[in-house]
Amino acid sequence: MTPVSNGLYAYLPIGLRVLNKLTNIVENEMENIGAQRVLLPALTPTNLWQKTERFDTNKTELFTVLDRHNRQYILSPTYEETICDLIKSSGYMSLKLPLKLYQISNKWRDEIKPRFGFLRSREFIMKDLYTFDATLDDANQSYETVCEAYSNIFKTLGIKFTKAIGDTGIIGGLKSHEYHYTCDNTDDIICTCSACQYAINKVMCKESKCPQCSNTLLEQSTAEVGHTFLLDTKYTEPLGAVYMQQKLKPLVMGCYGLGLSRILTVVAEKLRTEEGELRWPKSLAPYTLCIITPKSGSNEEGANQYLNQILEIVNQLNIETILDDRTKLTIGKRMKLARLVGYPYVIVLGKTAMMSPPTFEVHNINDSSSTELSLESIASYFEAENMKT
Ligand SMILES: [Zn+2]
Repeated sequence: MTPVSNGLYAYLPIGLRVLNKLTNIVENEMENIGAQRVLLPALTPTNLWQKTERFDTNKTELFTVLDRHNRQYILSPTYEETICDLIKSSGYMSLKLPLKLYQISNKWRDEIKPRFGFLRSREFIMKDLYTFDATLDDANQSYETVCEAYSNIFKTLGIKFTKAIGDTGIIGGLKSHEYHYTCDNTDDIICTCSACQYAINKVMCKESKCPQCSNTLLEQSTAEVGHTFLLDTKYTEPLGAVYMQQKLKPLVMGCYGLGLSRILTVVAEKLRTEEGELRWPKSLAPYTLCIITPKSGSNEEGANQYLNQILEIVNQLNIETILDDRTKLTIGKRMKLARLVGYPYVIVLGKTAMMSPPTFEVHNINDSSSTELSLESIASYFEAENMKT
């Protein structure tokens, strides 16, 4: 992720691969709970936000644009209004409940002071899900289902997270939960119990003792990466998103955000080494293996003769591999760059490949170990490594 302007970032090829890995994990869990993916326009007519009285209260944080007819639009930070309006116009007859619609797209917020990379950026990538049910009981059921899917996503990522009682803030609603990663120097603070699972956003915390087990609550600096809200009819009523049950009634709604660019920022920050090298959980690594070929014109150039055989071995094992053939750079320089990106494994075609019999340096970057392997033992090495996880 590279800054382009204040609070605006570009994803370069490697970063985009990591984002796509995360997107696939999220998409998978969303499909598992019967949610369907949509893609809504970036621009929302301002008048929709006036119907829910959200425009005036949030004006300063919204990017707005005018078209040639002087009509105003919001570069959307969230889509409750848009989706309710869509449901209204599609007609209640066509609704099959529960309805779960989600999208993964860019969102915008005019942060007063962009900072912490994607934690406070002006453009960010968010997964937003909206659920619609006939009754509050059903909506509660949908809410629990989504919370479980969120827990599955965070478990797949493999980094300890905390689910805390949330602050409903400007979105509103009956109840909310937040998903946090512990992280220094951020704006978020949660109060957690050391004895049980209880956790609550500091803003909501009124007591110093845990209400479940009366142990002392501890404050923790965190980054919020997900948020769930049971909204009831706050948005469906003013926007006319209704269904028929003897008479027309507003749908009971839930909304659920997951900050994908935020998750990547925090994971990168949390797992980064003291030297500033990135370390990825296996689920997010851009490639599992990087192969470094000899520098052109060097004494080791003959080691290239083994490249195709090694590629064949790792392809058969379905190991995602990138070849660093920037052969103007020394092996040492490219090794340094590979460590910086955080590929879990690196194979070097270097000096030892020129010996008889030839061997190859295989580095496990995450545990800083390295070993010399013959061509024949490369496959069993990776099979054994795979069993470890
Ligand atoms: Zn407790």
